[in-house]
Amino acid sequence: MTTAAAGNRTELPDSSNFRRQAFIDGDFADAASGETFACMSPVSGELLFEVAACDAEDIDRAVAAARRSFESGSWSQLAPKTRKAVLLRLAELIERDTDELAMMITLDMGKPIGDAAGEVSGAVACFRYFAEAVDKVYGEVGPTGPSAVTLVTREALGVVGLVVPWNYPLLMPTWKLAPALATGNSVVLKPAEQSPIVALALAALVSEAGVPDGVLNVLPGFGETAGQALGRHMDVDKIAFTGSSDVGKLFLVYAGESNMKGVQLECGGKSPHVIFADAPDVDVAVAHAAEGIFGNSGQVCSAGSRLLLQESIADEVLEKLAVEAAKWQPGDPLDPATRMGSMVDETQMQRVLSYIRTGSDEGAELRLGGGRARRDSGGFYVEPTIFGSATNAMKIAQEEIFGPVLTAIPFGSEAEGLRIANDTVFGLTAGVWTSDINKALRFARSIRSGTVCVNCYDYGDNSLPFGGYKQSGIGRDKSLHALENYTQLKVTYINVLDG
Ligand code: NAP
Ligand code: MG
Repeated sequence: MTTAAAGNRTELPDSSNFRRQAFIDGDFADAASGETFACMSPVSGELLFEVAACDAEDIDRAVAAARRSFESGSWSQLAPKTRKAVLLRLAELIERDTDELAMMITLDMGKPIGDAAGEVSGAVACFRYFAEAVDKVYGEVGPTGPSAVTLVTREALGVVGLVVPWNYPLLMPTWKLAPALATGNSVVLKPAEQSPIVALALAALVSEAGVPDGVLNVLPGFGETAGQALGRHMDVDKIAFTGSSDVGKLFLVYAGESNMKGVQLECGGKSPHVIFADAPDVDVAVAHAAEGIFGNSGQVCSAGSRLLLQESIADEVLEKLAVEAAKWQPGDPLDPATRMGSMVDETQMQRVLSYIRTGSDEGAELRLGGGRARRDSGGFYVEPTIFGSATNAMKIAQEEIFGPVLTAIPFGSEAEGLRIANDTVFGLTAGVWTSDINKALRFARSIRSGTVCVNCYDYGDNSLPFGGYKQSGIGRDKSLHALENYTQLKVTYINVLDG
């Protein structure tokens, strides 16, 4: 695969061997309707190819295949150490194909190729983590006394539906797929319509690793059709969703109007990144603030999109941030030196540009950027953008923009900083920079978010749960706790008869 730049325009590498059909019951196949939809690359705005557009009929077939595979026990009844061996093989295969998978991610959704390779290694590590975990989890014996032996065991749920977004098209499904498969479930996955390619490639690797037919099904399609059909399906036991809070709420409705399936939601954020005047190193804090909003073009649920600056250092931080932001000017996503690529598509770019206009209309000070970039590439790029002197009541401080747009808000006292940080409907991540351990701990105790980072931003690990308070979601991905998402408790009560 080679890329050649003609002016600002990138010649896209050959994608003719990429999968574009649905994967159902172990085979790649067209949608039953024969319908397809356009798979676009935001790198250059070009059509890559057409992809199967699955709808309710395909979802029915996939759920039936998943149910059959679950009931057959071909995967669900294997010893955990056997599933572990298969999933470790899968991790090897993903690692083997890193370059090709990274290229798929970059072409399909526009993140820089280096970041895409990082996403692939994140998926490898996640499959390894859950593979290794699953034969180290024990059941319980109940303290019910000498007249009984009572067992509390965890059993797989059955058929799990996964609906995921486009910002990490391999890692987001992996966070759910790895624990769901490790615990013995069968899965129907609907990737986002903007980025279906890498999920289809993953299906082929899952099969190559030795996961039996029907255990994983991947159905590209639209949210309103395929996604809704999965959410409302009477034979799906659980939905694990990552995406916007608005669509997350719909899945609760679908569950309530169908079979009361469990719903786990990883949703949006408007995370506060707070720098106190006694930050241990302002330059390091500035680098984290830039990465926290410009990384992945700001299309990150845990982006530090509200930068709360203590007044005495606000100007200094904003000046340094403008210098740091120069490193994040959008570039060719296929160039390994690029740090910020494109937005996922034209719609998302227009949405972000419209929020930038709103910020100016609301009276926030546009200190940097604000426009479209690399227009002659044909792709959809937005400059790193910084608003200073915003207030927390503004739309750009309350709504998730999902783009490289930072809203900086000054504050005075510690109490005011905390109040502003918590003044949001979201609660995914927070960051705080201070040299005072007591201040850091007071902040960590009082912030209403699933993660709080002290003197760093958005750090995590497969061993740590990730998810949100408030409208950022219900439940957690990652860590041993994620095994609970895909299992339920069973009690076996054995009466000991008198001799
Ligand atoms: P989205 O619009 O909510 O879409 C997410 C998924 O839901 C897609 O597969 C989508 O299908 C599907 N969907 C859309 N409308 C639906 C409907 N009416 N019924 C059933 N399914 C439907 O989110 P997005 O724009 O792809 O992704 C960005 C969002 O994801 C942001 O809010 C971000 O914060 C969130 N996110 C959260 C986390 C986390 O861990 N908390 C991580 C990453 C991203 P289509 O693609 O066909 O529309
Ligand atoms: Mg695409």
